[in-house]
Amino acid sequence: MTPTKTVAFSKNSTNLFFHILTKCNLKCRHCYINPAQHGKNTLPLSTITAWLEAFSHNSNSKNLIFLGGEPTLHPDLATAVKQACRLGFGSITIDTNGYLFGDILSRVTPEEVGYFSFSLDGATRETNDQIRGDGSYDTCLAGIRRAAAAGFITSLIYTVSSANIHELVMMAPLLDHLGIDRFFIQVIGLRGKSALAESTTDLPKPPQVSRSQWLDTIPGAAKMIAERGITVTYPKVYLGVEEKFECAGNVADNYFVFPNGRVYRCPLCEDFPIHSLCFQDNQIQPTAKLNELDFFQLDIPEGCVMNKMIQPHNISYDRDGRPQYKIACCLLKEEIRAG
Ligand code: SF4
Ligand code: SF4
Repeated sequence: MTPTKTVAFSKNSTNLFFHILTKCNLKCRHCYINPAQHGKNTLPLSTITAWLEAFSHNSNSKNLIFLGGEPTLHPDLATAVKQACRLGFGSITIDTNGYLFGDILSRVTPEEVGYFSFSLDGATRETNDQIRGDGSYDTCLAGIRRAAAAGFITSLIYTVSSANIHELVMMAPLLDHLGIDRFFIQVIGLRGKSALAESTTDLPKPPQVSRSQWLDTIPGAAKMIAERGITVTYPKVYLGVEEKFECAGNVADNYFVFPNGRVYRCPLCEDFPIHSLCFQDNQIQPTAKLNELDFFQLDIPEGCVMNKMIQPHNISYDRDGRPQYKIACCLLKEEIRAG
């Protein structure tokens, strides 16, 4: 196991997070999909191919993550994977809730898909199903086993909230038992349903975790899990006041593409019509100002501008009004590599 390492933003690789539809069979409590901002359509294969082509000319190494909604609900996902391979995407991941619709495991190969990445939000059926819906725990575990039996490498995403932070350490034996190769810890954000809950009084309040809960639990749990030979990645979230802050929107090459044609450079911007790019006639075009790029330029003592705007309660100030720490870019990760 290597020591915990902050993963620097890469300038030589492009990460394409491609939402090919927003439809899903589940209704997770914290779902970040916002149909008013992301649309409700399912992209036809011809559009998926054209949009992949638009990114394929980039000389960087290209990583592609197919997302939804639930991407395996798309009838042409397998063909889209093959198109992406043909277009030179070096690493392809399919993010799934584990239902694996459309017989996807037999329609793509481990040579084509680097990872099937499953989402589970509890070490126990009770906790996970309260968040993600009845039956989702058993189905996800069965999906992981099926993917592994078919020869695919599997990873797992756990979105930490006050409803499941207590079960994070319990994930260690489960991940081991399931043969998971990489474990991604996410922090619940104020996006999609969580943002809606924050702004209305008739929905349950979003289960955010405090800074002390995060720091007391996450690094230790990550180390414990990595000791089992699993590579663990988690967001850094907090920076000391002296630590260098960088906005991935300025220094990295990430694209978050939605089926209504919006293309964002920052996931925290996805609830707002401030995308900096969009597809028009299958060509990628810059949008008019103001857009997210203008926010990335702002240099504030709190670090991430978007976080300051949408989650101001995440920051504490001293008596002189100076922030006691900075909020890191949500894309800045800590990693403990197995072996
Ligand atoms: S599986 Fe994903 S897309 Fe579907 S409801 Fe849950 S969080 Fe939303
Ligand atoms: S999360 Fe903050 S720091 Fe990261 S890309 Fe978005 S605005 Fe920039």
